[in-house]
Amino acid sequence: MSEAYGRLLIRDANYVVTLDDARRILQRCSVFVEGGVIRDVGAPAELDTRHLEACRAGGSVIEAAGRLVVPGYVDTHVHTFEHLSRGLIPDDLATQDWATLYARPFYSGLTEEEAFVSARLACAEMLRGGTTCFVDTNILLSLGHLDAVAQAVEESGMRAILGRGVFDRMPAAMAARIPEETRARILSPDADRALAESEALLRRWTVRAGGRIRAWASIYGLCPYTSDELFAGVRHLADRYGVGAAFHIASSLGEARSLEARTGVWPITHLDRLGALGPNLLLTHCTAMREAEVEMLARSGTKVAFCPGAALRLGKGATRIGLVPEMLAGGVTVALGADGVSSSGSFDMTRLMSLVAGLFKDARMDPSLVPAEKALEMATRDGARACLLDGEIGSIEVGRCADLALYDVTTPEWVPVHDIVRNLVYCADARSVTDVIVDGRHVVRDGQLTTIDVKRAAAEAIEAGERIARRLELTPRTRWPLVGPSSVEHHD
Ligand SMILES: [Zn+2]
Repeated sequence: MSEAYGRLLIRDANYVVTLDDARRILQRCSVFVEGGVIRDVGAPAELDTRHLEACRAGGSVIEAAGRLVVPGYVDTHVHTFEHLSRGLIPDDLATQDWATLYARPFYSGLTEEEAFVSARLACAEMLRGGTTCFVDTNILLSLGHLDAVAQAVEESGMRAILGRGVFDRMPAAMAARIPEETRARILSPDADRALAESEALLRRWTVRAGGRIRAWASIYGLCPYTSDELFAGVRHLADRYGVGAAFHIASSLGEARSLEARTGVWPITHLDRLGALGPNLLLTHCTAMREAEVEMLARSGTKVAFCPGAALRLGKGATRIGLVPEMLAGGVTVALGADGVSSSGSFDMTRLMSLVAGLFKDARMDPSLVPAEKALEMATRDGARACLLDGEIGSIEVGRCADLALYDVTTPEWVPVHDIVRNLVYCADARSVTDVIVDGRHVVRDGQLTTIDVKRAAAEAIEAGERIARRLELTPRTRWPLVGPSSVEHHD
């Protein structure tokens, strides 16, 4: 089904938002791709002369009049394991009950096949929204489950960073609610064995699918789940293999306060003291922070994946106690993450951009914070830097990997176009994404995936989601009565 790697001419687009160093937005522009790499960007007539004949003869041409081209989005924090739980978890639970009562039991029960079905659905959703690269370093249970996710990513054509989300501590309240057998499956008995599990992946491979999929050292993170030895050890593991490391931290005020009761400091300071911060570390959330900790992240080059959707749904306090504007002003690389469908709801990167551009304007009553252009950088260039893929993806320049998303900018929510970036961030959504290219491959064509049979992927996801919920006796606790056709009363 998939398109072969080869020559591709994106012809005469209305706009190409390059995200190059000068942040040029090129009007009436063509882009030529060959062998997975952007080879030529410029005036349509010139690129026609150089490439049109060859592309028509032995490649493909996208007629891009009425289209916008942007770099494919980089989603720096997702849980592909969560996709089959969509809608299952009530929206009145804070992080702890959300995880203990639903998310953890759900994750812990997935078979390898279900992990594949879940990840394939997640890839389909991301691609249709223009996301071309993602980070999922929370693949629990086994290397077999990780292989299943990697297989789904490979088939989808996406770019990804994958890792195990191991941990060596479990809060007593959670342990009491999770059966012994399940606990043994997901909890490592100590830091050494957790690190050995994370390393087992790196010993097998750090790069596959021609470099499109990479493995990182990773732990689940968060203070209640992680010993000091494990926080320090995962950085060293990443250093030894020359890869990145990733985990959750400072997710909530509760986490920060319980650590403070034990150590006298909040999570980022704790990591700094452990020597765990560094330029190859990507931290998710970083909500419960003190101003002095911004400098620790900046000085160490540590990156942050901010998940606005999860903050809103789980009530994390990102706008009340979070320091995203301070981190941006302080030179910290802050990128965007969708998190999971049950913790946030949407993998649409335009929604995440709109949220990050709006949340702090309102919270601080300062509309100068996080302009639309910054939100777009967070979804592209900054995401690439967070993934240690700076210089490879995140901008449209000759020599970069050809990861691109095209929008139809003639639809009602797009016109008139007085400023293309403002329209993209505040007005558009995934509906107007028409084409997506990853590594030079045309994986979404006219809104249709070429690498995934979406009907089959959806049918198998529905079946698996219902099966898991039944097996684990998880019910959605629907608030309103669900009335079947036979129960509807007729009044003549
Ligand atoms: Zn997460």
